[in-house]
Amino acid sequence: MTTPAAQAPVPAVFRDPQAQDPGVFRDLPGQDVVVAQLRRAAAGAAALLAGRRPEPGAMTHAWLFTGPPGSGRSVAARAFAAALLCGNVDGNGDGGCGECNSCRQVFAGTHADLLLVRPEGLSYGVKQTRELVLRAAGKPTGGRWQVVLFEDADRCTEQAANALLKAIEEPAPRTVWLLCAPSAEDLVPTIRSRCRMVTLVVPSSEAVAKVLTERDGIEPARALAAARAAQGHVGRARRLATDASAAKRRADVLRIPAQVTSLGPALSAAAALVRTAEEEAKAVTEELDEPERVSLRRAFGEGSSGKGVAKAMRGMAGAMKDLEDRQKSRATRVKRDTLDQALLELALFYRDILMLQLGADTELASPESDLRKLASASTPEATLRRLQAIMHCRELLTLNVAPLLAVEEMALSLSEG
Ligand SMILES: [Zn+2]
Repeated sequence: MTTPAAQAPVPAVFRDPQAQDPGVFRDLPGQDVVVAQLRRAAAGAAALLAGRRPEPGAMTHAWLFTGPPGSGRSVAARAFAAALLCGNVDGNGDGGCGECNSCRQVFAGTHADLLLVRPEGLSYGVKQTRELVLRAAGKPTGGRWQVVLFEDADRCTEQAANALLKAIEEPAPRTVWLLCAPSAEDLVPTIRSRCRMVTLVVPSSEAVAKVLTERDGIEPARALAAARAAQGHVGRARRLATDASAAKRRADVLRIPAQVTSLGPALSAAAALVRTAEEEAKAVTEELDEPERVSLRRAFGEGSSGKGVAKAMRGMAGAMKDLEDRQKSRATRVKRDTLDQALLELALFYRDILMLQLGADTELASPESDLRKLASASTPEATLRRLQAIMHCRELLTLNVAPLLAVEEMALSLSEG
């Protein structure tokens, strides 16, 4: 079969999967086509900088990374940024060693030529985007590229999208835009048409399990069970395999179908589901918040001494307040996303039941032994109706219906035979 992956020379890091140094693309299981595309582009970029002629069409200034949640859009974009900024370009033109200062700084988010943009609230405002566009037009301090990594570019407001479009239409010569979105349709056509597409796929459970085993030292059977449960979401699989409380929360969600036998149990299951999602959101948020506070304090000179430090520390209060506001709106978003994820997990469980009821040959997310009893106790029609109730609940939540109300309504539908 001739695919772009097959045409490209086999990158050194893939010749030996046990290699000590698999480079910056090592966390992208099952994305061989994308990795080959990005390596070609990085080699083209290095050729441009060296004044050599790059492979035609390999490199361009605006990229759009799309793929289902957890497939690694932002991981791929980050790896590409590292490959562009890496100082260790080898004889094949391959950058992205993963070891040099530049690569490390890209992954830590501290590289001077990497502008990392994430939505802080639910969307990007126009002011935020204009500032970004202005900064992006600057020259790279390291002499290579100025890379702007725009995560969740689909959360741009319309005005923000216009500001962004202008920057992409008239690119500064050394600026590279990396936009990430779930799908190309999530961006306005005018932006989309100016970007080179990088399309990530849902990786197979085997590919995800392999990475968990090789990179995280997780025992193969456990890695595969986690990978199946996470359905191609690499970060989620890692969390399920390494974080006992995340695994317990999932088990709690999946106990609901057996619990909702009548009104009373359905209502308490609903309350428990909302609570579980809130706990998970809190755990995720806390993990993100504290390092941000620490690095802000450090940026203002905490722990160092000398002239100006005391003055700088006084200026910190305002910045800290700012950070706390942003963290608060992120917490709201995480809470919403987490509940949605629990609902998707529940939907996946019913999908598994439906597959068993229909005798379809599909990879199940849950072990068959957990599903068989429920599958034989109902009909495909009833399972479909339950799936619809879950999807309806997700819709209500996007309309900002109070979570407990929406989930209670769903639980009551699940309990009807
Ligand atoms: Zn490097």
